[in-house]
Amino acid sequence: MSKHILVAVAWPYSNSDIHVGNITGSYLPADIFARFQRLRGNQVLMVSGSDAHGTPITVKADAEGITPEQVYKNYQPRFLELFQKLGLTYDLFTSTHTENHFKVSQSVFLALKENGLLYTEEQQQWYSPTLKKFLPDRYVEGTCYICGYDNARGDQCDNCGSVLDATQLINPRAKQDGSIPELRKTTHFFVDLAKLQPQVVEFLESRKSYWRPNVVTRSLGWINSQGLRGRAITRDLDWGIPVPIEGWEEKCLYVWFEAVIGYLSAPIEWSKITGEPEAWHRWWTDPEARAYYFIGKDNIDFHAILWPAELAGAGEQFAKIFEGKTGKPLNLPYDVPANEFLNMEDRKISGSRNWAVWANDFLERYDPDPLRFYLTVNMPETSDSNWDWDDFVRRNNNELVATWGNLANRVLSFAYKHWDGHVPSPENPGDAAGLRPADAALLTKIEGGFETVGRLLEAVKLRAALGEAIRLASEVNAYLDVQAPWTAVKTDKAAAAATIYTAIRAIDNLKIMLAPFLPHTCETLHQTLGYFAPLFGEQYTETQSDSLGEHEVLRYRPAAVPARWAPSKLEPGPRLREPKPLFKKLEPSVADEERARLG
Ligand SMILES: [Zn+2]
Repeated sequence: MSKHILVAVAWPYSNSDIHVGNITGSYLPADIFARFQRLRGNQVLMVSGSDAHGTPITVKADAEGITPEQVYKNYQPRFLELFQKLGLTYDLFTSTHTENHFKVSQSVFLALKENGLLYTEEQQQWYSPTLKKFLPDRYVEGTCYICGYDNARGDQCDNCGSVLDATQLINPRAKQDGSIPELRKTTHFFVDLAKLQPQVVEFLESRKSYWRPNVVTRSLGWINSQGLRGRAITRDLDWGIPVPIEGWEEKCLYVWFEAVIGYLSAPIEWSKITGEPEAWHRWWTDPEARAYYFIGKDNIDFHAILWPAELAGAGEQFAKIFEGKTGKPLNLPYDVPANEFLNMEDRKISGSRNWAVWANDFLERYDPDPLRFYLTVNMPETSDSNWDWDDFVRRNNNELVATWGNLANRVLSFAYKHWDGHVPSPENPGDAAGLRPADAALLTKIEGGFETVGRLLEAVKLRAALGEAIRLASEVNAYLDVQAPWTAVKTDKAAAAATIYTAIRAIDNLKIMLAPFLPHTCETLHQTLGYFAPLFGEQYTETQSDSLGEHEVLRYRPAAVPARWAPSKLEPGPRLREPKPLFKKLEPSVADEERARLG
């Protein structure tokens, strides 16, 4: 039975380029999982987009003297280019700055209001009489009331690391013009999370048995220690989505509240673009559908607590407001397999200090699959992990090249040379397929990978799944060491033919198991093996336009004849294409050269 699977991927802030930590944190695991589920024959919808609103964008705009919209528009094409090079197969990568996202977010807000889950409250906030506006916390600087540091930001002190209450700053000044702000009253909408707490707890308890322990422990721990309290969902800012209430249009929906709504608005936009405006319901209101959220651990609270609270609170009211008809409740996340952090050479990654490997930059010098490989064998699934350039070179050479790349290249080149460019035919008269017991035993072992590797992928244990597939590749190497077709070809060509046919079948199986991790080289290998239809579909960009202007999106066209997660049926005889090495061995000196680029 084909299932509908929503692969919801963290939305990058469009104020900075993407580094390898971001990729292994959420984008790459999402793509591996999506590709696997497509091979399984499931109906996958993988969505994300740029988070274009909020003070991270306006701060950048002020620093560069451009508009917030221009900031987002500068990064969007860089994201799309990177995701295509890396092979991240978003069915739709859009942005939060679209008419559709505005409407969906405003409908969620109104649904919560209609359900009695919003209230207003007066707050004190810094106001600049010279700038004539309220100042978001990041826009106020002053002396930290905890450590006395005199250059603290309203939201956080960089000296002592404390999260601050901006209204308590000593000697506050406006970041923009140095003017002295005053505290004024402003009113905001709050979501009544206390009322939604029982539903959130029930949701977490129902997922506890299969979620990653860190995600469950952190989420329930927060609720048990302090309980859920009302949280502001509007703010005084002029870059964002207007509050959809008369007299409130000058205020915006708070970015933490609206950015997560992208997981709902992107499928709706995708449905409109594909000409089937109701299609999103198959992923969002069918209770059999499953939604997986791929995020980093810094986002657990938003995805495991706040977003489920928004969804449970909006419920069926959302469809009534958005589509004007009675709807079904919105699905809550099935799983939130959050990753921990990747460090860089034993230090925390820091974009501003250039202590990072930038993905666009990396792909100027290397192919995408070695990056995908290293970021998977090193994925911070259960604890923080570390990018180490020596380790990168070693694992590239010893595992990717030696265990897998050389296996494929050696066997196919040998067949190409000795059997005139064809898959050889085994001719053991005792077996219908012409195989000897050792051949059949190897194939049984390798085909078992569809079960073992598949089970690990299904459970989002990607690191272990790749490890198991590579272990199976070394089984083929061990088999070849025993059978030694390289010498047998001179003395017993029939035996060599049986060995090489068996090894090609094993490689054809491993190609499918490795394809979610190494899609580019597996596609090349697939062609070398003589197949005509590609393994996967194609990525492409296009321009969408609405009342807010034009926006570039990334899309995915599925393969016409999709490949399947199932044992190879490769027969003897087909013509091979000339094999070429899939990967490059790296010189150990590369590590020092690369380290010199850091910092
Ligand atoms: Zn401080």
